[in-house]
Amino acid sequence: MNVLISLDGLSHKLFAQRASQFVRNGYSYCKKMITTFPSVTFSAHATVITGNHPDKHSVFDNVVSHAQTLERIELYGDHDSLCNETLHKQTIFYSLAKHGLTSCCIHWPLTTGNSYIQHLVTESSSKKKLQESVSVDEIDKEALRETIQAIESQTYDFIATRLIGYDALSHQHGKESVEATEYLDRLFAHINQVEMSLKKSKQPYNLLLFSDHGQSDIEAFFYPNEILAQSRWREQASAKQIRFVADGSGALLFYSSLDSQQNKEVMEYFRELPEVNQFYERTGETASVYQPVGILDLNHRVCGEDIAFPEQPKYTEMKSLHGYHPSQVDEMNGFMVCLGDQLENGKIIEESRLEHIVPTIAQLFQISHPCDGTKINDVIREYK
Ligand SMILES: [Zn+2]
Repeated sequence: MNVLISLDGLSHKLFAQRASQFVRNGYSYCKKMITTFPSVTFSAHATVITGNHPDKHSVFDNVVSHAQTLERIELYGDHDSLCNETLHKQTIFYSLAKHGLTSCCIHWPLTTGNSYIQHLVTESSSKKKLQESVSVDEIDKEALRETIQAIESQTYDFIATRLIGYDALSHQHGKESVEATEYLDRLFAHINQVEMSLKKSKQPYNLLLFSDHGQSDIEAFFYPNEILAQSRWREQASAKQIRFVADGSGALLFYSSLDSQQNKEVMEYFRELPEVNQFYERTGETASVYQPVGILDLNHRVCGEDIAFPEQPKYTEMKSLHGYHPSQVDEMNGFMVCLGDQLENGKIIEESRLEHIVPTIAQLFQISHPCDGTKINDVIREYK
């Protein structure tokens, strides 16, 4: 049995302070897992579970836009824009099902309707069951309960679970707030329970823990659609021919139906603004109808929102965020620790990438899973 658990939002820097207890217990430790850009939950989780870059799975952010209609699409909850067969067939669940292996998946983004998962618990279904106002602690306890039940049932070959509590408390109170830090103890106690139930099952297992991105504390806010509305592109902005989309983030996707020369001018204009770190023009070939023209990367600790008049800011109370380019803000990157029968004991690796996790799991199952990533050989034990 292979178990993959996402500890949402915990940066490699914060994890490093607690890593020794894992290494002492025999876990191998990859100190830094390079995340996606923008460094946000949905892109990173889509990359982890498919092994593909956003160009291929099209999950460019938590919120995207249709490149032609410029309709804004939030990917939260249940829907079939992007969360459909095209994505599901890229997931490890599909490759496992093809080989007659079974999966259980709990609270992982963009899994609604994935028929290659035999036992699927979506975050939205748990929220409905526990009522909308439920605490993140209760949601994670539900994920833990489902995970342990799945392990004890010995029905599934693969279990993928996401724990959201640290990320939510970090956004709300700050990445190193008392609330977020105390929650880490609870999170690690959950992990310990998972490890105990795997040991008790007396079956061979591998347990992999990772985080999708880190967090940075907020110092300033930035609203690029409001800037567009007062610029020489105000008519195009009000006609929805150009727009930025993002959900309280260090980076925003830029969509436009203008010609490429005009787009270059918009980018040049924004690059001059003091809140902006870089405006990346996207030149990669992709068939995706959600591909942005560019991605605006803000300076560290600046929080961007895609509001346009008369919408009001939603995130003025938010304390921590992510989204920045992982090569620009190092604490955006995650980590990985892993323990199990087919894995090296206490091996330390400096750096790898999120897209390499699923090819590693495919190797543990000895199945093929074609994707952009490659297996992390250094953590896999060689049988001689
Ligand atoms: Zn996340």
